[in-house]
Amino acid sequence: MAHAASPAVHNEAIAPAVMETIMELKGKKVLVVGLGKSGLAAALFLRRRGAQVTVSDIRSAESLAKEIPALLEEGIMVEAGGHGLLTFRRQDLIVVSPGVPLNTPELVQARNFGRPVIGELELAARFLKGRILAITGSNGKTTTTALTGEILKEAGYRTLVAGNIGVAVVGLIDESTDNTWSVLEVSSFQLESTEEFHPKIAVILNITPDHLDRHGTFENYALAKERIFALQDENDSLVLNADNPRTAEAGARSHAPVYWFSTRHEVSRGAWAHDGNVVYRSAPGAAIEAVIPLNKIPLKGEHNVENVLAAVSAARLAGVPAAVIARAVEKFHAVEHRLEFVATINCVDFYNDSKATNVDATAKAVASFPGGIHLILGGKDKGSDYATLAPLLRERVRAVYTIGTAAAKIESHLRGVVPIHACTTLANAVSAAARAARPEDVVLLAPACSSFDQFENYEHRGRVFKELVAEQKDWKAKPEP
Ligand code: ADP
Repeated sequence: MAHAASPAVHNEAIAPAVMETIMELKGKKVLVVGLGKSGLAAALFLRRRGAQVTVSDIRSAESLAKEIPALLEEGIMVEAGGHGLLTFRRQDLIVVSPGVPLNTPELVQARNFGRPVIGELELAARFLKGRILAITGSNGKTTTTALTGEILKEAGYRTLVAGNIGVAVVGLIDESTDNTWSVLEVSSFQLESTEEFHPKIAVILNITPDHLDRHGTFENYALAKERIFALQDENDSLVLNADNPRTAEAGARSHAPVYWFSTRHEVSRGAWAHDGNVVYRSAPGAAIEAVIPLNKIPLKGEHNVENVLAAVSAARLAGVPAAVIARAVEKFHAVEHRLEFVATINCVDFYNDSKATNVDATAKAVASFPGGIHLILGGKDKGSDYATLAPLLRERVRAVYTIGTAAAKIESHLRGVVPIHACTTLANAVSAAARAARPEDVVLLAPACSSFDQFENYEHRGRVFKELVAEQKDWKAKPEP
């Protein structure tokens, strides 16, 4: 079903009676829309708190065959293959999965009928105990969330890590205590439907064009991200990227003190790269602390220095000493599918950056290598402008290999910039790139598109890439026909 994009929609101030519904779930009728990981976890949580739960998904009963029996067993009703209008009207509360657009007609109508509509993150945040450290951004969320979680654990904090990273936040509620730090990766889709989400420490890594197919305009998307600090006050902290124009601009709207990070220049308070080191200062005029030498960061690319600077700021604000941060950073490994080194075959390096699902992430991946790159681009287009890659490609890329439904658009945006080979499939692209590459070159999957036209998700695409790379090893071992 196609939906016109609209600005973030919020419930008008939630009435006290509704608040009660949200906190007291016993016997309440609750509808969960969308049966992804977080929808499933929300349904189970609500049921265990005594609510009468129905889940509704537009996917068919066959494609939900794995989930349905477990839900029925718990006493949860399931509506598959579409949403009935009446299903939405009879509810005390509607919980929406992040994948479901808020302007879905049934949700718009439910809100018009006065039904409260919230997301899984909002539901979870109402029950979660302890403090929240939340991280958003167009790129780098998972890496920075995982790293920050590791740093807090290294410091001996009771730490839970969840959110967009793959673990539903509602799943943490029972484990959380007043001493817990919940490190949460939050996406614009999750933030769009928050009302009372209130992190003690919030981080915005960067805001660059992404998901325009869902948010409609860049500004709507940026405003959804800004909701991460909407409820913060002077007792909280906001960490922002001073080098990213749209993120820096958001600082003016913060009620919480802003801490900056920058790879390019000194900041008044926060973290920056200085003379080969990551340094941190807690307040303007305070002493500058050396945290870790840049060459001890085990991740590739300047974008990962940004992620480390953000994690250092957040962790210092949470009270972790610099030496503990340094220890955790040194031990950290790249998360799978994020500029992940795969193999060297005949002196050619293969890198899997399947998670580069937008143009900015691709630009950062390309910028991480000095040159000689064979770049695999394509998949499902998200309304992106690939022409912005042209100067970087001209400088560092030997050839582009296109795959998927976005191929024609990519070719039209980049014609004449570098040689482009239309490969259709990832298998063709890997084998064409491997055969064209010379010693010291790099074959890089950083496709700037989502994967859903040819793969289940980016993880699947990354795994297939790694298998195809392994096959090149066999091919290279054989004599040429
Ligand atoms: P997210 O969870 O926001 O998608 P990931 O850590 O999974 O972030 O990384 C997504 C993609 O963006 C990967 O291709 C990664 O190499 C790239 N990337 C990571 N950090 C940054 C950053 N700070 N700026 C731009 N791109 C980044």
